Amino acid sequence: MFDYIFSLFSNDMGIDLGTANTLVYVKGQGIVLKEPSVVAINRDTREPVAFGAEAKRMLGKTPANIYAVRPLRNGVIADFDVTQEMIKYFIRKVHNRRSLLHPRVVIGIPSGITEVERRAVKEAADQAGARYVELIEEPKAAAIGAGMPISEPTGNMIVDIGGGTTEVAVISLGGMVVSKSLDVAGDELDESIMQYFRRKYNLLIGETTAEDVKIKIGSAFPLVDEQSLEVKGRDQVSGLPKTITITSEEVRQALSEPLKLIVDVVKATLEETPAELSADLVDRGIVLAGGGSLLRGIPELLSRETELPVTRASDPLTCVVMGCGRYLEELDNIKRSRSRPSYL
Ligand code: ADP
Ligand code: MG
Repeated sequence: MFDYIFSLFSNDMGIDLGTANTLVYVKGQGIVLKEPSVVAINRDTREPVAFGAEAKRMLGKTPANIYAVRPLRNGVIADFDVTQEMIKYFIRKVHNRRSLLHPRVVIGIPSGITEVERRAVKEAADQAGARYVELIEEPKAAAIGAGMPISEPTGNMIVDIGGGTTEVAVISLGGMVVSKSLDVAGDELDESIMQYFRRKYNLLIGETTAEDVKIKIGSAFPLVDEQSLEVKGRDQVSGLPKTITITSEEVRQALSEPLKLIVDVVKATLEETPAELSADLVDRGIVLAGGGSLLRGIPELLSRETELPVTRASDPLTCVVMGCGRYLEELDNIKRSRSRPSYL
């Protein structure tokens, strides 16, 4: 009971530690932080100088002695110290210092990370003052956040297309029955657009421009109204600024290779799914989460390729953090009722 009363006053939080974005949900307040998972580092001292949105603003425009990194870019922790500093920064930013109570923290992590990496994440949350830390695999959090009935004895398939990784899982009775992680997702789509411009037009464009093209006119499936867009970059030969107009058909062609890899990992997961659960998927279909799933035509493409119904979660960018939040609330229910829902 005391624990329950305490929990009303503490800033218990759910964190989506994404390869591109970190989101934090605080119980009773909702999503309070949404920042890029970016750290700016001083080259000389090797110390972080900025985190999140502030660090991202420095990307590409930094003085020579500062560079920006995305420590989780490929779904694995590239640099333990930097990742830990970033986690600590986000938790401290949100944690109400006036509150004497240490928060409980539930963190959604890419499912591909190793035991050592898990420990590093936990340790960072401990050091930031967490009273209790629990890690949850991102596909599971995404499925909870998308409102899928994952504790029931039926098959639930979630495909989370993030920045650095695509995670696919079939969940039943609260557990991941089959899961796969692929290091091709939104970033790789941007990369393919950059390559296309370079090869076809000798035009060099930055990552941010490529992402902009993807979001504005990118698609995975023919559009009813095909579009075009003016894109500015630097001519590889003359070195001068140049503008070209690109069509949505061309962008789709540029995206076809990475999209095929994403389709393939979904198919491979289906092939490994036990028959009973596959049968459920025929009715329930596949649910998409993650910012990458916002690319137009992805549901149509996956549906054509798998012959299953495919739907996007209502807010793909927040599924994981909302799932972590729901999980936190379940922790309270357990305390009070002493009965664990089967997915905990
Ligand atoms: P992560 O969980 O790995 O941090 P997110 O779920 O936050 O990743 O998704 C980030 C990715 O989503 C980026 O590659 C970004 O370009 C992409 N994205 C965001 N909005 C859109 C959109 N409207 N269309 C296509 N891609 C999008
Ligand atoms: Mg994610």
